[in-house]
Amino acid sequence: MSSYKPSIVDLKKAGINEKDGLYEFTMNLADGTACRVFYQRNPEWKLMNVSRLQKTPCPVCRKDYICKCMDQYEGELNRQMQDDQWIEKALAE
Ligand SMILES: [Zn+2]
Repeated sequence: MSSYKPSIVDLKKAGINEKDGLYEFTMNLADGTACRVFYQRNPEWKLMNVSRLQKTPCPVCRKDYICKCMDQYEGELNRQMQDDQWIEKALAE
């Protein structure tokens, strides 16, 4: 485990499937990393998947192609999403 600590600075809604309660967001981190995030709304908000958008190299392994590094930060990202109410803010836009 590296010492990398992601910090969310922006969240935008990217796609919503109301019927299935599926929400897709694009997330920007303080170091310039961009991720795609999927949440399931029902019965309560649950993080389903985080994947890095390949616009910038991975902040953990430095690869610029697909990797699974962000998986290990799902708990931290989900905590920030809840603590800072990012979903509520993104949906209000
Ligand atoms: Zn990586």
